[in-house]
Amino acid sequence: MVMNKQAVAAELQTLLREPVKTDAPMSRLTTWNIGGPADFLVYPSSEDELAAVLVYLAAQHIPWLVIGNGSNLLVGDLGLRGVVIKMGEPFAGAQWRGLTVEASAGLLVGALALEAAERGAAGLEFARGIPGSVGGAVRMNAGAYGGFIGQFVTAIHAVDYEGQKLMLTREQIEFGYRDSSLFRLPAIISRVILALDPGDREQSLAKIKEYQQKRSLSQPLEFPSCGSVFRNPANDYAGRLIQLAGLQGLQIGGVAVSQKHGNFFINMGGATAADARELIAEVQRQVYEYSGIHLEPEVKMVGEFGGAADESENSAGQ
Ligand SMILES: Cc1cc2nc3c(=O)[nH]c(=O)nc-3n(C[C@H](O)[C@H](O)[C@H](O)COP(=O)(O)OP(=O)(O)OC[C@H]3O[C@@H](n4cnc5c(N)ncnc54)[C@H](O)[C@@H]3O)c2cc1C
Repeated sequence: MVMNKQAVAAELQTLLREPVKTDAPMSRLTTWNIGGPADFLVYPSSEDELAAVLVYLAAQHIPWLVIGNGSNLLVGDLGLRGVVIKMGEPFAGAQWRGLTVEASAGLLVGALALEAAERGAAGLEFARGIPGSVGGAVRMNAGAYGGFIGQFVTAIHAVDYEGQKLMLTREQIEFGYRDSSLFRLPAIISRVILALDPGDREQSLAKIKEYQQKRSLSQPLEFPSCGSVFRNPANDYAGRLIQLAGLQGLQIGGVAVSQKHGNFFINMGGATAADARELIAEVQRQVYEYSGIHLEPEVKMVGEFGGAADESENSAGQ
């Protein structure tokens, strides 16, 4: 793509309150702390700003990618061409009416889960330890300990790739295991409406504490990671298969399979996307050899990795 970076940044800035950044290292925007630079990084603070940005990008044929908290992303070492739209801090309100909450997409789902518990609204306790945004969590249908976020969603508001605002009700959305039909919707989720169950503040807070203790005992939370690298295969656990195949501790460059949890690959310092991708492929190969089961990545690989077989989910909007 040929573009005048300064001119594009200046044009984007006229549409946005928050500063537009250029050559923004994605390693700072992902929980794995891996990834090269994004040409542009923007933080919309309202649906109107988001719509204006999408209209501009469509007219200019500039590729873009929406991210939440970057906790399920592997960004290539060469970074992302075009614009990263970060649904973050400036887009993070929540309005409560009894047990129903309208949460903006950039709100952290863990913060929402804690607030729900504090208000005596039950159901989201499982989400306290998930480091994603509301938008990312709903699109991924994030879940843990038998719960998943889709079960509480009654509607979503979104802005489509041409900048039109739209709303989908629960009946129009399908939620599956770490998947939803929202992956096929050409739109960015801007707000989510969730209806929670009547509950008890103390019980919900106790449940959160119990889940958090389980997490810190079983997950290497002291290291940067993307959470579970692979989806669990039917009737089994990816972590169990990786452990049985003897792969815990296996390291390529700066990325290692955690000794604490086989499905967490941790950044030991200075990790690259090439290291992570190579380790993913090696674990896939060895688990297949050991069990005949092909593990499918849960982590989304985006951007440019370099090398011959460069794949990318970038250009989502084009
Ligand atoms: C330590 C750790 C523990 C974890 N534990 C769990 C767990 O228990 N359960 C679980 O399910 N996951 C877990 N995860 C993975 C991750 O937190 C979830 O998948 C989370 O829902 C991703 O949200 P995000 O905002 O970080 O999304 P991102 O990683 O930023 O993006 C993920 C995908 O969603 C898309 N997206 C993001 N925001 C929007 C939006 N507003 N509109 C449309 N598309 C959007 C992106 O384009 C991308 O395709 C864990 C991760 C870590 C690092």
